[in-house]
Amino acid sequence: MSDLVNRLANLTAIRDRDALDIALVNAINDLLLPLSTSICRVVGEAGNERWLISAKLLSGQTVPTSDSAWSSVDLLPKLPSHPLRQNAAKTQQLQQETGSPSLAVFPLSGSVDSIGVLEIATSAPMDADSLRLVTGVLRLYANFQGLLDYSERDGLTELLNRKTFDGAFLKATLEQKLADEHAGADRRHVDAPGSYWLVMIDIDHFKRVNDNFGHLIGDEVLLLLARLMRAHFRFHDQLYRFGGEEFVVLMRCHGEAEAAGVLERLRATTQAHEFPQVGSITISIGFSEVKPGDTPSGAFERADKAVYYAKGHGRNQVCSHAALIASGDLVEVAANLGDMELF
Ligand code: GH3
Ligand code: MG
Ligand code: MG
Repeated sequence: MSDLVNRLANLTAIRDRDALDIALVNAINDLLLPLSTSICRVVGEAGNERWLISAKLLSGQTVPTSDSAWSSVDLLPKLPSHPLRQNAAKTQQLQQETGSPSLAVFPLSGSVDSIGVLEIATSAPMDADSLRLVTGVLRLYANFQGLLDYSERDGLTELLNRKTFDGAFLKATLEQKLADEHAGADRRHVDAPGSYWLVMIDIDHFKRVNDNFGHLIGDEVLLLLARLMRAHFRFHDQLYRFGGEEFVVLMRCHGEAEAAGVLERLRATTQAHEFPQVGSITISIGFSEVKPGDTPSGAFERADKAVYYAKGHGRNQVCSHAALIASGDLVEVAANLGDMELF
């Protein structure tokens, strides 16, 4: 019993979603000693959804493994290749299969962004007590994830708020470094290493929307734009509302051309979208590659300058900080020092 209490205490000591999945897998493994415990999440666009393992522990292992955050979606297994998981996610009911091994797949609820299941493989079918124990632990997990969402997500759009940004930024730069190091070793599920890009999105003339249609309709536009963004970006991109009508994305891409293409499509999709009552709105986007040793504020400053440039040059466009520097349309801060000596 004290082991159970300890495990649950460990679970609720965590403030990080990925670490929470690892703690859940560890807790189930210690309590039931199954053959394996996995958390599987649905990723990918509608019609091409795949299973990504966010934490998996085999009996005898002490440290859970996971699919790389850099996994290429097309190389992951398709949803129908695991019908038990698919049914658990769809029906939100426990699914069981007797065999060797026997499987029990529990739906995971509580997360705004992702659909997932917990899959437990055992040598004999789980008894009623074990099933009840897992169900209880999962209720706690869901409640706790709800609490994390409450403190880390924006109430209107349910995108992440700025509180978690710095941590995610540092984790992304570290992850990128590790991915670079491992890319040569195992290319099976991993793309050639890409890099992270910081994107700032600002609605054009949003004040006019409020002035013409009222604050409530303005809020609805923010909510609908957040939905468009969710559908547009991929599972490994992190979406934030930084306040007001400004959105930030920490995006993974292979090079400037790919990043610009993804963002240009979002710009066009937004312009083409019919927002109830308001009609069409446009957005200005600035982006910059996250560099080794970058700080969040340094990357922000570059993306912000690119947005500012877009605003000053007709709005409704996507601007790359690096491209603006290369063309001479923006001047690096360091190059301005000579001017500053005049004062
Ligand atoms: P620009 O194209 O230069 O970005 O013009 P803008 O009007 O979008 O920008 P500005 O920064 O002048 O105004 C932003 C407006 O966003 C002001 C405020 O009324 C509105 N706003 C900020 N937060 C919210 C919100 O939570 N809900 C609504 N409805 N409006 C908001
Ligand atoms: Mg603004
Ligand atoms: Mg604006």
